[in-house]
Formats: sequence, structure tokens, C-alpha cells
Amino acid sequence: MTVQQKLEILADAAKYDASCASSGAKRSGNGKGIGHSDGNGICHSYTPDGRCISLLKLLLTNFCTYDCVFCVNRVSSDIRRARFTPEEIVTLTLDFYKRNYIEGLFLSSGIIQSPDYTMEQLVQVAKTLRLVHHFGGYIHIKAIPGCAPRLLEEAGTYADRLSANIELPTQADLVQLAPEKKATVIEGTMAHIHDRKNELDEDRTRFNSTPKFAPAGQSTQMVIGATPSTDRDIIQRASGLYQNFKLRRVYYTGFSPYPEADTRLPLKASPMVREHRLYQADWLMRHYGFAADEIAPEDQPELDLSIDPKLAWARRHPEFFPVDLNTAPRETMLRVPGLGYANVDRILRIRRYHKLVLADLRKLHVRLKDAAEYVITVDHLPGQADALFSPTTALSPAAVEIAAGGLERVSMKSFAHPVQAAQLPLFAEAAKSAVTGVL
Ligand code: SF4
Repeated sequence: MTVQQKLEILADAAKYDASCASSGAKRSGNGKGIGHSDGNGICHSYTPDGRCISLLKLLLTNFCTYDCVFCVNRVSSDIRRARFTPEEIVTLTLDFYKRNYIEGLFLSSGIIQSPDYTMEQLVQVAKTLRLVHHFGGYIHIKAIPGCAPRLLEEAGTYADRLSANIELPTQADLVQLAPEKKATVIEGTMAHIHDRKNELDEDRTRFNSTPKFAPAGQSTQMVIGATPSTDRDIIQRASGLYQNFKLRRVYYTGFSPYPEADTRLPLKASPMVREHRLYQADWLMRHYGFAADEIAPEDQPELDLSIDPKLAWARRHPEFFPVDLNTAPRETMLRVPGLGYANVDRILRIRRYHKLVLADLRKLHVRLKDAAEYVITVDHLPGQADALFSPTTALSPAAVEIAAGGLERVSMKSFAHPVQAAQLPLFAEAAKSAVTGVL
């Protein structure tokens, strides 16, 4: 088999591993121009400093001695098999790199002979690239669960990122669909990477010469929709992994059925929107301070696929709203639907100079369709216009200015939500009486 033929098979087989994000764009060249977005094995990933880079995404081999029911490379699968030697991968990586096709390598593998043997081959690729060819590009290597700790330590020395796949949300799911895999073994591998990284990072604060260990951290992926596990199970699992092993990312891959699949698998693909909602939930845990229990509580274990999880949480917690954007702390504002963390930080800066009005939110391109009914600004109080402009309420100077002379600023356009639009006459009336009472 030529290297080109191996590349076709093993780059195609690698596309099922989502723990290195890929754009997924499909745009075939027409033979006249240049460029082909789904060319063999090029995917995109993000470096720790946020740059998007192209990676050569390959399997060392799609032979595998395991029989994970959901996986196309399982031992019982009737597919074309191929295997690269470590030298072939090194040569391919350097060739692609020199031609400026890629900035790094993502290397995974089926398990051949034993976890140790497979991991040794993966480590050899990274080691040769780094030590023999002084390759300075990005390297992401799959950590084979259950391999010897010394191999993980070597892998972390040469690779920027390591990832051990958790595969399925629960141990019961693994028993059902991936009988050779054990959650405790996978977690043991993650724990060793985590501890070693912590140890060396700490040493480096004292000794500059301490080598870096997996500087881009570790990630994992799990297949969703192949078992009846709920969104709560999935989110709880991801939350535990973030807390225990400080993972950079958990990737979710929706299960899609294939012809003549095992009868233990569902016949229908997991809806794409489920994957999307899980990524949104994951984002809320990592950047917005939400706990897994808040996103998918015990009595509602499935995410509402029709709305994003933050809006769903807001609807379940009316007691938390409205939030006064002129006084609320950052973590409270982060819970407002339609407000992203970048805008929350901008609001905090604006607050230093003047009181916030709806027009400020519009300038920040805040999604008022979602946010309006959950926030208070000087000129906006959802559902209770009379409370803000009650004669007994001490109005801020900015509110008085708006109420007294600037009512024209409060046009119908200020009210994105139809309920607020309907309240405008009431709002104006309340404002007038407030002014009379205060002035
Ligand atoms: S160990 Fe990995 S490659 Fe092998 S069958 Fe399981 S998921 Fe597929």
C-alpha cells in the first residue's frame, strides 16, 4: 500500500475523533482553481493563545483489538485497514509543514497489541519530530488509557496537548457498548497527566529550566446519543472531569447510525441541535459560573432543545430577575440571557462614567430580544414601569432627565419586546407623575 493510499484511509478514519476541533466545512475544488477544504486530514484547532491553526489529523492505524460498538474502527468492523510507520508520519508531517499546508499534527490510533505498544509508537513520532528534526509546530497526541505512566510523561514532554477519550458518559454505557474500556482506567490516565502537569508547572515557578509538560493541557471527547444517558448525565460527567482533571475542553460527538450496525445501537442519529445545546451548556459551566445541577436539574434531566440553556435557566428562575445593570455584580449579570461576558465587562466599564440606558445596550449589540425582559436600566423596567417612576422612588439624576425632558428618547423603538411596547403609555404616564413628585 502506498503512503498516499494509507493517507486516504487513515486521515478519513481520524475524522471521527472530535477532541481536536475541525471546521467541518465541505467545499470541493472544481479542478480549475486552487483550494479544497475537505482535503485529506487537514483540520483546524486552537492554540493556547487563541490562534486558529491547521493540523494534519491522522490515525497511526485503524486496526484495533477493541470492539467498541459505536466505532467504525472496532475489530469486528469490515473496513479497509492500514497502518503508518512512525517514520512515515514524521515525513508526512514535515512535508506538509514545509509546503505550509499545516502548522501541526493531531495523532491518534486504534489500539494494537497493547496500550503500551500503541503509546510507544505515538511517542516515537513526537519524539523524532522534536529531537531529530527540531519541529517547533503544534503536536496533539492521543493518550492511550491504561498505558504506562512513563509513556504519558514522555508524551507530555514532546506534545502540546494530550487527550484521553472518555468515550461515553457513564460506566454503565461503557459496559454496554465498549466492554474493554473502564472509566476508572481512563480517569487514571487523565489524573496522571493532570498531576504531572501540576508538578512540573509548580517546579517551573522555582526553576526556569524545568521543561514544559503538555502546555496546551488535556481534552477529551464523548459520544452522545448512542445510549439512553440523559443530558444531565452528560453535563454532570463533563463537570466532574473539569473539576477533577482541569481539562481544557470536553468535545461532544453526536452518534450517527451506520449500515448493519449492532442492534444495541439506536436507529436514529442524535439531533445536531442536541450537540449544539450541550456545547452551550459546557460554555456556561466554563465561562459563566453555572453548576451542572443548575443547567440540568434532577427534575428536568434533558435540555430544552428549542432554547439555549441560559434562557431556559432564566425562565426557571424568575425570582432572580430583573437584574439592575447599574448596580449588579459581574457574576449576576453573566446570568442574564443575551448578555455575553465581553458585553458584561463593557457594561462594567461604562458604569464608571454614566448610568446605563437601553441605548447603551443597543450600541453594544446586546440581543435585547432575549435580554430586555430580564434587565433594569435607568429608562427601562420590564413589566413594572410604575415601580421605577413612582413618586416615592428616589430617581437618579439621569432618570429625572429622561423623564422630564428626554421622553422623546424613549421611542417605541426602545422597546424590542411587544409587552414593553404595549406598556409605553403607562410608562410615560408614570414618568410624568414621577417628575411631578420629585421636582
Ligand atoms: S479503542 Fe478506540 S479505535 Fe478501538 S474500537 Fe474503541 S473507540 Fe474505536
